[in-house]
Amino acid sequence: MAKFIFVTGGVVSSLGKGIATASIGLLLKSRGMKVTLQKFDPYINVDPGTMSPFQHGEVFVTDDGAETDLDLGHYERFVNESLTRNHNLTTGQIYNSVIEKERKGEFLGGTIQVVPHITNEIKTRIRKLANKVDVVITEIGGTVGDIEGLPFLEAIRQMALEEKKDDVLYIHLTLVPFIETSFEYKTKPTQHSVKELREIGIQPDIILCRTRLSLPQDAKDKIALFCNVPKQAVIEAIDVQDIYEIPLIFAQQGLDKLIIKRLNLHKIAKPPKLDQWQKYVDNSKNPGQEISLGICGKYTKLRDAYKSVIEAIKHAATQQKTRVNLHWLESESINFHNSKQQFSNLAGVIIPGGFGMRGIEGKISAIKYFRENKMPFLGLCIGLQCAVIEFARNVCGLKDANSTEFNPKTRYPVIYLLPAQRGKRQKGGTMRLGKYPASLNKDSLAYQCYQKEIIWERHRHRYEVNNRFVSTLTKKGLVMSGIYKPENLVEIIELKNHPFFLATQFHPEFTSRPLQPNPLFTGFIKAAIEYARKT
Ligand code: GLN
Repeated sequence: MAKFIFVTGGVVSSLGKGIATASIGLLLKSRGMKVTLQKFDPYINVDPGTMSPFQHGEVFVTDDGAETDLDLGHYERFVNESLTRNHNLTTGQIYNSVIEKERKGEFLGGTIQVVPHITNEIKTRIRKLANKVDVVITEIGGTVGDIEGLPFLEAIRQMALEEKKDDVLYIHLTLVPFIETSFEYKTKPTQHSVKELREIGIQPDIILCRTRLSLPQDAKDKIALFCNVPKQAVIEAIDVQDIYEIPLIFAQQGLDKLIIKRLNLHKIAKPPKLDQWQKYVDNSKNPGQEISLGICGKYTKLRDAYKSVIEAIKHAATQQKTRVNLHWLESESINFHNSKQQFSNLAGVIIPGGFGMRGIEGKISAIKYFRENKMPFLGLCIGLQCAVIEFARNVCGLKDANSTEFNPKTRYPVIYLLPAQRGKRQKGGTMRLGKYPASLNKDSLAYQCYQKEIIWERHRHRYEVNNRFVSTLTKKGLVMSGIYKPENLVEIIELKNHPFFLATQFHPEFTSRPLQPNPLFTGFIKAAIEYARKT
């Protein structure tokens, strides 16, 4: 039977609880244990798929097509394993399933209540992951003290009652602010947050302190005393430049040893193996060169909206010992006249996914510039759709060609909805989601990158390339280099006689990992380095 680690957060949100959880996962995995990670989100939406990127940041998509919290992206990247819809649950999903059972009559005669019915459902979802692993690590979203988080905290409190003492461990991440005027670290917010947890009945075993710089010993001692934990269980989570350094910082302070001791994992724990990870971090901190790349989209004010794209760029660039200087280009402010000025100092541009009409014409102008000026370009999902529209309009002469998403009445609907997607009323979970195979042309840039004939990548979109226009587009030189054969759908387009002009209907950013960058990102970064060298 597996052991359970629960990670909660206190004081404020956005302390990096997801990254801390992912780091703990990596540390245990690097000691030979099988781990899995799970996140509970206390909001009522069934999943984040219907939320605006401005509200929620990126929606991360799993192989099985679940639209999940972006922390799952961190989990996959750190632990290097693909997760499923069972690894991210929301209040909405928990209530949904309890209510469904009630309607079926499964609790006939009973009154359905938060305790025990909702908390039982939560515990079932935790234990569901326990059979094939040594440790299940569950992160509770939100901050201790939020009303909506209470059922989750109550459920994890009960876990300690029901499991053996050395099978359950609680880790609490808090903020230890530094007050400039008095020049000292303040432990009071941590004390209060732990007090709140203890009122609920949870005594944390380990406290992770988010702090700007290293904490003085007296501050740590104070936290230990007031929060009722041993001194060595107060661990610093110092601000770092590169998130991938966090597991190394935790390991230096013995976090893995502490967990192994407390959960009695000695028998299965092996010596830590973090050399590859360390090498990655060293490369990322000491790059040999730097290039400037652009990301052109409409959610540029909230960088979290492009989390996986940013990480995928970092992975590929670090592998090439290169630092990337990212420039954010608001697609709405780009047009034919200012393209040169916007792009001339860059080595390449990515147009990531997006929804709706705003900024589309800017993206199309930008792509014309990349095509004509032979500048490296990688288009993701809507990036492919805009590239097809641009080519249809400006190379094939199909004036006003468009996607029916942006102009339902266009004469040339080069991007459109397949009959299966037309008239769909329900928005949540109804896109083409999750992993699908694409067959690659052997004589293509895509094949050169992947070195494989069949690749699997993840999707999240409704619209597709309209096959009615494929022969017109190919005759003029657009190469459809990847196809989803069962439905004959275009997955990748590219141009010949161009250093790197490639766009995908899928999202390659979701499968990139620090030690295994996605091949298309690697290809793009290599082309950008070459372009920067020549210009
Ligand atoms: N809005 C487009 C579609 O639904 C593209 C989606 C995306 O970029 N993820 O097909």
